[in-house]
Amino acid sequence: MPVDHHIEFHRHAVARMPAPDDRHPGVAFFVSGRPSQQFCTCRKSGKGTCAHLKALFQSLGVTGAAAPPP
Ligand SMILES: [Zn+2]
Repeated sequence: MPVDHHIEFHRHAVARMPAPDDRHPGVAFFVSGRPSQQFCTCRKSGKGTCAHLKALFQSLGVTGAAAPPP
């Protein structure tokens, strides 16, 4: 399994740093809890699931809460 070097692990959260060549960078966060929280610092994050959050979820092997059920 490849390792995503953009991931940072925190006590109750995981963050994914943007790539250096990202033209619209954002730091995506997933905070565990009830309920869990997910957000990104980019401008597109308020309009749905941005590419940073999708990349974070892909690295974690999970689907985002905003994703439709299978
Ligand atoms: Zn984003």
